[in-house]
Amino acid sequence: MRTMFVAGNWKMNKTIAETRELLSALKAGLNDLQGVERVVCPPFVSLAAAHELLAGTNIGLGAQNMHWEEKGAFTGEVSSGMLKELCGYVILGHSERRTYFGETDETVNKKLLAAQKAGLIPIVCVGETLAQYEAGQTAEVVSSQTRAGLQGVSAEFASQIVVAYEPVWAIGTGKASSAENAQGVHAVIRQVLTELFGAETAQAIRILYGGSVTATNAAEFFSQPDIDGALVGGASLKVDDFVGIVSQSQIAKGE
Ligand code: PEP
Repeated sequence: MRTMFVAGNWKMNKTIAETRELLSALKAGLNDLQGVERVVCPPFVSLAAAHELLAGTNIGLGAQNMHWEEKGAFTGEVSSGMLKELCGYVILGHSERRTYFGETDETVNKKLLAAQKAGLIPIVCVGETLAQYEAGQTAEVVSSQTRAGLQGVSAEFASQIVVAYEPVWAIGTGKASSAENAQGVHAVIRQVLTELFGAETAQAIRILYGGSVTATNAAEFFSQPDIDGALVGGASLKVDDFVGIVSQSQIAKGE
C-alpha cells in the first residue's frame, strides 16, 4: 500500500514574511491529518525560514529546482548539497522549467542522478502539451520522458522517487484532466516503471496527478487506483484549499 503524497508547488510566490504567515496557518490546519505525506515547496530564498518553522512538524520541505553539479562557477544556481541542509525533496523537470528555462529530459536526468547521490527525494514531472494531447501522443510522450528522465537510477532509489503526471494544458488553466484520463496515463507510467525497475519497485513508486487540482475535484483523482496524490500549484497558496486536498487524500484511502 502506497502512502498518499500531496505536494504544494508555490512557484514564484510569497516573500519570506508571507511564507512564515502561510506556514503558520498550514501547520495548524494540517496538524491533525495523519497518513498522508505532505510537502511544501517555496522559493529558494524562503527555504531557510521554512526549515526553521517546520522543524518538528509533519510537513516536509522541498525546493522547486536545482543544478546537477555539486559546486562551481554556475552563477545563480543552487546545488543538491545546499538543499540537503534545508530540505528533503526537490521538484525536477516541471513543465514551466522545460518551457521557459530550457530544461530537457537530459538535464532532468542529470539532476535526478545528483539527487540520488545527495539523498534528496525528487518529484519528477512529466506531461504532454496541448498539441501532443490533441494529436493522441500522450502515452508516447510521457513514456519517453519517464524513460529518459529516470535513466541510470538504481531500483533502490527508484522506489523513493515520486513521479508527477502534469498535462501542460491543465496547469494553471482551471481545466483539470478527467480522473479517468489521468488514471489511464498513470497506468502507462507505472507500466514503464515496471519495465525499468521490476513490478515490486514500480508498485512502490508514488505517481501524483497535477493540473488544476482543487479541494473540490481532488477526491475523484484520489479514488483512482494508480493516483497516489497530487502536485498542487495555485491551490497550495490557499490554506483552506491545500488542507482540503490533503484531507481528501486521507479520506480517499480510508484513513
Ligand atoms: C503545478 O504548477 O505543478 C500545478 C499543478 O499548478 P496548478 O495546480 O495551479 O494547475
